[in-house]
Amino acid sequence: QQVQAQVRAAPLAGGALVLVLVDDRTESLRVEAVRRDFVANVSHELKTPVGALRLLAEAVSGASDDPEAVRRFAGRMQHEAERLSVLVQDIIDLSRLQGQDALDAPELVDLDHVVAEAVDRSRLIAGAKGIRLAHGGDQGVHVLGDEGLLVTALRNLVDNAVSYSPQHTQVTVGVRRTGDVVEVSVADQGIGIPERDLERIFERFYRVDPARSRMTGGTGLGLSIVKHVVANHGGELSVWSVEGAGSTFTLRLPVGSTHEAPDPLPDPLP
Ligand code: ADP
Repeated sequence: QQVQAQVRAAPLAGGALVLVLVDDRTESLRVEAVRRDFVANVSHELKTPVGALRLLAEAVSGASDDPEAVRRFAGRMQHEAERLSVLVQDIIDLSRLQGQDALDAPELVDLDHVVAEAVDRSRLIAGAKGIRLAHGGDQGVHVLGDEGLLVTALRNLVDNAVSYSPQHTQVTVGVRRTGDVVEVSVADQGIGIPERDLERIFERFYRVDPARSRMTGGTGLGLSIVKHVVANHGGELSVWSVEGAGSTFTLRLPVGSTHEAPDPLPDPLP
């Protein structure tokens, strides 16, 4: 269909238009390759918890005369089922986000609510590790967007900060407005990220240390979700990290007004 369009359009509009159509076809091939890759990755990731559940179910039926073993296997089944459910939710969120370039019905969102909610939801797991969760900075800043998606994005960053930090450290969420741009940063004193991995951590299912990510319940999709949410809000996402000392992830978003859609920031992350 694209080839036909190319032939038909060429005599009308000349070389430039043909070039656009060729580009378009290349883009659609690229999108198709990305989709195929995603399906392959998803299948691989789903196989791990599903395989574990199958083995555990077999173990339970084989241990019916040992109530203690049954209890142990059932506990592990619950853990795997929870992991599976987080993974499925992340896959649904990400495929929805990948399918849309912009938000359907952006509303004016108070960042104070977004920060409070994201921090609140991570408090329990931070508390269990004795990690202090602090937040502060400019108040009353609004952005035009989707509150649920912004909470999801920030929560992913706070959860990561907590997961990849040792006990009794601090995670700080800060909000700073400069003119028409607001920066929301999440800083930790954790393990940091090696320089060679910094660019790749935003890719789907990319983990610096897969065993550690799985142990902390990570799906490998969190930062990819954050990247898409920020892009849909016309913003930017950046990271600064020193191995062994900590990381800071920063969202830069256009400040919203009730009258206009946000202007995209220049050079969004690819
Ligand atoms: P995961 O579910 O594995 O945490 P993410 O997409 O959220 O997946 O993050 C990708 C990888 O980036 C993680 O596996 C981890 O190696 C690294 N990472 C993300 N956030 C941090 C952080 N705050 N400190 C250290 N490493 C991090």
